[in-house]
Amino acid sequence: MIRIDEDRVFATIKERKPRIVAFNGPEALLGKISMLADRVSKEFGIDAYVIADPCYGSCDLNTDAAKRVNADILFHVGHSISIREFGNVVFIDAYDDIPFDSVLEKCVNILRERGVKSIAVLTDSQHIHEVENAKRVLKDNGFIVHATDGKGQLMDAQVFGCEFYPAFYARDNVDALIFLGQSVFHAVGVALATGRLTLMLDPYYDEVKEVNGIAEMLKRRAFLAIYKALDAQRIGLIVGLKDGQIMLNRVKDIKCRLEAHGKSVRLIALTEVTEERLRVFNDIDAFIQVACPRISIDGKFSKPVLSVPQAYTLLKILDGHGQNVEYDEFLILPHWL
Ligand code: SF4
Repeated sequence: MIRIDEDRVFATIKERKPRIVAFNGPEALLGKISMLADRVSKEFGIDAYVIADPCYGSCDLNTDAAKRVNADILFHVGHSISIREFGNVVFIDAYDDIPFDSVLEKCVNILRERGVKSIAVLTDSQHIHEVENAKRVLKDNGFIVHATDGKGQLMDAQVFGCEFYPAFYARDNVDALIFLGQSVFHAVGVALATGRLTLMLDPYYDEVKEVNGIAEMLKRRAFLAIYKALDAQRIGLIVGLKDGQIMLNRVKDIKCRLEAHGKSVRLIALTEVTEERLRVFNDIDAFIQVACPRISIDGKFSKPVLSVPQAYTLLKILDGHGQNVEYDEFLILPHWL
């Protein structure tokens, strides 16, 4: 069961005495967040808004919406990062209390069968508190457990869908990576960014799943999209409008380099990059988006829609360095932005 750190919400309100607060978080938590907002409103006699727009990560805070409803504090629930607050945004943890003991036992047997000796443990925001226990169990069973230090916004052992520092820097020292949790999205990201055997430990189904097959399929599709974009003459270059996705310098760099190859570039600004929105641009041959890499890597579009690592691979080929582009390597990076 997911447990939101409500004590921190109540303590923050008591201390700062806001007149209006707002909450947001991932879709799956909106029910719990709504109930929390109701309780806050009742207990403190203040207005509490639930910002119900889609929210996919800590890059997607929607501070504009909080400003528009005059909220003094925006409680962002469920996407924990190493920074606890900034400006009027307060990050609220939402932990899943499901235990991993049984699935860890299964994992130990599978790792032994596969001859794995050294591993590293990764997870997403919801299961960070389980990492130390998992490491202890694995060490007690004779495995070498490599450190997975946090970096930037990432806590130790944490990965986002586009940022993998703890996994990436462990990759050369391990035979396999263990992802705690039910998020195929994050586990596949780990497999793609490291190129290592990645096992996802799903405590709900009590299953250990190897995700490298899914990763391989996504990688193949992402690589194909790069080659489809090679002949594109008119390219739509999309900057994301979400708080943490506005990367104007990146846009500038890619635009200059594309124009140097005679491509014509249209600059587009979008909040949600979807097939439906892109269909409006029927004169464009291919798109590059610098918003969220997973839109391109996991999504399906009728025209090529490249993420940042795909765009730089395309530029490498256009620059005449195609012989240096390794299919196996182009997504092996600590950060895809
Ligand atoms: S850019 Fe995409 S993958 Fe990265 S944190 Fe934001 S939503 Fe997640």
